[in-house]
Amino acid sequence: MAPERLKINGERLLSRLMGLAAIGATEKGGVCRLALTDLDRQAREQFSTWASEIGCELRVDAIGNVFARRAGLDPSRSAVATGSHLDTQPTGGKFDGNYGVLAGLEVLQTLHDADIRTQAPLEVCVWTNEEGSRFVPVMMGSGVYCGAFTLEHALAATDTQGVSVAQALRAIDQAGPHPASVDAGAPRFDAYFEAHIEQGPVLEDADTTIGVVTGALGQRWYDVTVTGMEAHAGPTPMGLRRDALLPATELIQRIRAIAMREQPNGRGTVGYLNVFPNSRNVIPGRVQFSVDFRHPDDAGLLRMDAALHSAIAELTTATVTISVNPVVYFQPQAFDPELVALVRTAAAGAGFTHQEIVSGAGHDAVYVARTAPSAMIFIPCKDGISHNEIEDALPEHLIAGANVLLQAMLARAGT
Ligand SMILES: [Zn+2]
Repeated sequence: MAPERLKINGERLLSRLMGLAAIGATEKGGVCRLALTDLDRQAREQFSTWASEIGCELRVDAIGNVFARRAGLDPSRSAVATGSHLDTQPTGGKFDGNYGVLAGLEVLQTLHDADIRTQAPLEVCVWTNEEGSRFVPVMMGSGVYCGAFTLEHALAATDTQGVSVAQALRAIDQAGPHPASVDAGAPRFDAYFEAHIEQGPVLEDADTTIGVVTGALGQRWYDVTVTGMEAHAGPTPMGLRRDALLPATELIQRIRAIAMREQPNGRGTVGYLNVFPNSRNVIPGRVQFSVDFRHPDDAGLLRMDAALHSAIAELTTATVTISVNPVVYFQPQAFDPELVALVRTAAAGAGFTHQEIVSGAGHDAVYVARTAPSAMIFIPCKDGISHNEIEDALPEHLIAGANVLLQAMLARAGT
């Protein structure tokens, strides 16, 4: 069969997704498979078994990233890679991460079955601890790979029980011999594609099958503290109060307005708020809250940053002060236009409805993109819900995304 007519085996993809979901299955239909636990080991083993059955060569690096390689015809070429992660949140779903790994494996298996050799080698990556639930930082394996932080920093991270990443890797025999970062000699990819459920409501709302992901939003996070003075709610007249909650609520409204000026893709969220002393008849003396700004480009993030600071200056008075501390910055990451075009062409060629979309969440592809041309393929998930046991996706969408991945990888790798 001509490679451009080739289709993945949807039944097999779905049955493997369910097979993998059984490892760490929860009563409510989700998956709890925290990074570098014995369940994670079992999922890795299952993946490695499937990959070995089709002749892939496996390697594990020093942070536990697993790579399954299918040789190409041209040994001088770098790999066209894909993948995602097998760890989940404590109340995670069946598809986040797992889908990208198994869609990649399905691409390789489909080529194996059809006896088609690509020019470039193909690889499926399983990145360690993407979720960041057991160990911080998140996107740990791909972060080490691209040099966002060092291997030593990642290995020293500990979980709430005091177990380090280094210990956890040894316990499940996943501290591999291969260099973990590009700087230390890990191979660079020719290209990296990642298929993923959208984890948001945009595609479902638009009734679109394929999201052609053009990039990921940059992020700036802050801690804000508003300080006034606690006092008795009864004896203190309205005009003589130093109520910290009032300017806090005003600032929260402004944060929404700041994001609304940056549409369609600016985001502003206050997700955490603490009122002190949080007592019915005490005027709040201190309020702490978080701010999460996201934007597709740095200039936009800086506009939001400046607007936040000027709002704070305006709301600060002689009696109530406001301080702000930046805590996290993730640079916006545009994906490679050529790879994005391959995804678009593959979706159009298969007759799937498709639209451009930006990723609001972090993904391994966002880090890999610092070292190689990268792109992502999104499919809708039910009600836009993820990081939840009820996370779900339609079989036809799961199959469609894997077929787009197949054609995009084939086009890049050559036959
Ligand atoms: Zn994920």
